[in-house]
Formats: sequence, structure tokens, C-alpha cells
Amino acid sequence: MRPAVRGFRCPACGPSLLLGWGADEMHVRCLRCRGTPVHLSLLAAIRAHVPALATRRAYELSTVGPVPRWLRARCRTTTTSEYLDGVEPGGSRDGIRCEDVQALSFAEASFDLCTSTEVFEHVPDDAAGFRELHRVLAPGGWLLFTVPMNDAPATVERARNEGGQVEHLLPPAYHGDRLRGPGAVLVYRDYGADLPARVRAAGFAHAALWSPPRPFLGHARQVLVAQR
Ligand SMILES: [Zn+2]
Repeated sequence: MRPAVRGFRCPACGPSLLLGWGADEMHVRCLRCRGTPVHLSLLAAIRAHVPALATRRAYELSTVGPVPRWLRARCRTTTTSEYLDGVEPGGSRDGIRCEDVQALSFAEASFDLCTSTEVFEHVPDDAAGFRELHRVLAPGGWLLFTVPMNDAPATVERARNEGGQVEHLLPPAYHGDRLRGPGAVLVYRDYGADLPARVRAAGFAHAALWSPPRPFLGHARQVLVAQR
């Protein structure tokens, strides 16, 4: 694909330019905030669903990039964390808070908005993670996140973790991440159309998939939008 530059209205920075230099979504970015279609889809969903951001306490499951930056500039408070190998959840390293979404160190009803991009496919017990986010959200609070989705009706478990031992049910698949490098993080499952039902099972009153009305150079992600 030849590089393409298109004027667009970025959900993060307003009028901007979208640069595409390859066929997949990771090769499309806003030239101002560097957001990919994954980030931009999540931010568009927050704008469409969560009113009065300046009054909201946000919690985002990553510490750098366009999503935490955008939340910090708009929300009343913004808490961020990473899952850090070798750091006790609730502790920190180099000023970065470590949290395990399956067992968060926050009190009940600490937040009004919880967000993540591309996290839950790597969480061994995602149901425990959804229950924890439900616990730390105040009544009426929102959970919005992206995960890679396939077209299947049901989520397919690729691996499970029993007492720290990984058992592969399908050939292992890995994603890269910013901290651990390419191909370092195991994919536990491929999510299907039952994702909203999986989130509702954790106690959320509403959960549905939402798509941005305008794709970003042909790419957009469905965003899971749930309310406690
Ligand atoms: Zn932007």
C-alpha cells in the first residue's frame, strides 16, 4: 500500500491528519497524538457514552500513550497502572503502579470510568478481572475497552492457567507489548460475539459492543461499553 494522508477529525485532538503506511491497523496513526485505530475507537466511544468527564475519576490499565494522556487532560482524577513482572500488585517500580486486574488493590467504588485497550485477551481469568472492575466502579460507572474480536459467536479459550502452570488448549499465540517486546505475551482467548454476555455475568447492568461511525482509513474497532 502506498502511504496515504487524510484529513480527519481525531476523537483525541480534533482536526488532524491520519497517516496510513501499511495494510493493517497498526500502520495507521493520527499524526498529532499517534493514536492507532484501536486508541481512536476507544476515545470515540468514551466521548459518545460518558458525559461530564471533568467530574469523573478514571482508571486506565496502561500508563503511557494517547489514552492515558487524553484521560489525564480531561478527567477529575486519572489513575493508571501496568502489570509488572516481579512487582507485588499495589506496589510500584520507577513510579509506575503495578496492578493485577484479577485482584485490584483499590477500594470499592473508587472510580467512575475504567478503560483498557488490548488487555483482557492476556488475562488468565478474565471473569475475575470483570468482577474486580465492577467492584471498584461506583454505581452507574462505565467500563469501556477493546480486545481483538473474531467473527465467531462464542469466545474460544486458547490456554488456561492453573496455579501458575499454563496449559495450552490450542497452539500458543503471542502479542507484543511495550514493556516486554514483540511476541512476549500469551493470548489466552479469542473473543467472539458473546463478549457482552461475559461482561454482564460479572454484574454489569448493561453491556454492548459499539462501533465508531466513521472508520480511520478503513480501520475501526468494536468497543465494549458497559455500565454498572
Ligand atoms: Zn489525534
